[in-house]
Amino acid sequence: MPRWLGKAVLLCMALGIAGGMIREATAWIRQNAEAAEAWKHIAVLWGQAPEEDTETGKGPEAAGKAEDRVQEEGEEATADKKGDKGKESTGAEIRRIALTFDDGPHPSYTEELLDGLKERGVHASFFVLGEHAQLHPEIIRRMQEEGHLIGNHTYSHMQLKDCNWAEYREELIKTNQVLRELTGEEIAYIRPPYGCWDKSFEEELNMFPVLWSVDSRDWCTANVDEVVQRVVRDTGEGDIILMHDYYDTSVTAALEVVDELQAKGFTFVTVEEILFD
Ligand SMILES: [Zn+2]
Repeated sequence: MPRWLGKAVLLCMALGIAGGMIREATAWIRQNAEAAEAWKHIAVLWGQAPEEDTETGKGPEAAGKAEDRVQEEGEEATADKKGDKGKESTGAEIRRIALTFDDGPHPSYTEELLDGLKERGVHASFFVLGEHAQLHPEIIRRMQEEGHLIGNHTYSHMQLKDCNWAEYREELIKTNQVLRELTGEEIAYIRPPYGCWDKSFEEELNMFPVLWSVDSRDWCTANVDEVVQRVVRDTGEGDIILMHDYYDTSVTAALEVVDELQAKGFTFVTVEEILFD
């Protein structure tokens, strides 16, 4: 065989091998991109959101522990979100987001919030404490009448720890009972204080944990503008926003957030619609 023909054969073989490697690499990148996208959706359901902190001032020692978690997970969640900002995208499709409020009902702030949400035609999700629900049953009934989702946030804002599993379980059950008596409905959703959860409760109690993807951090500042700007900046399609109806500034901020995000074309729905529709 002439030397030039030998070189040509070798070149063809080399190109063939290189082409195969490129195809392999492309397939690998595509698979991993799909996995990353799937993970983003799972992360909203569970595990990647930063935890709420001191909130209503219950258990500062517990909150300190939670803050360590917040720090670490918050960084991950923030990093994840930066790549997601293009979600405020195009077209006329409905871009749904969910506003959630923890720790209530509060005797006056929650009613103010409900008034504002009603004026704006917004349905939100309220993760209430059993003890607060017992104190203000009329507010729970109003939430239900006005189409908001009501979820469990334990009875006394208990954080699940290794040593209080049975007690925590009792709090979940007791709060479900309180809410069932008030609404006549089974309570399916739980937002666990500080994000501490045990998956075994899901099957046993038929409850689904809901965390969040945008943390307003409304509990740690009275600066309404700061809270509004943070939420508006960080929110994209499919996000679940964490706020608390336990502060007057949170109510003001929440209604401004609604006005700004509605003006940007977002539609507010309950977490159930975000997660399962
Ligand atoms: Zn809370």
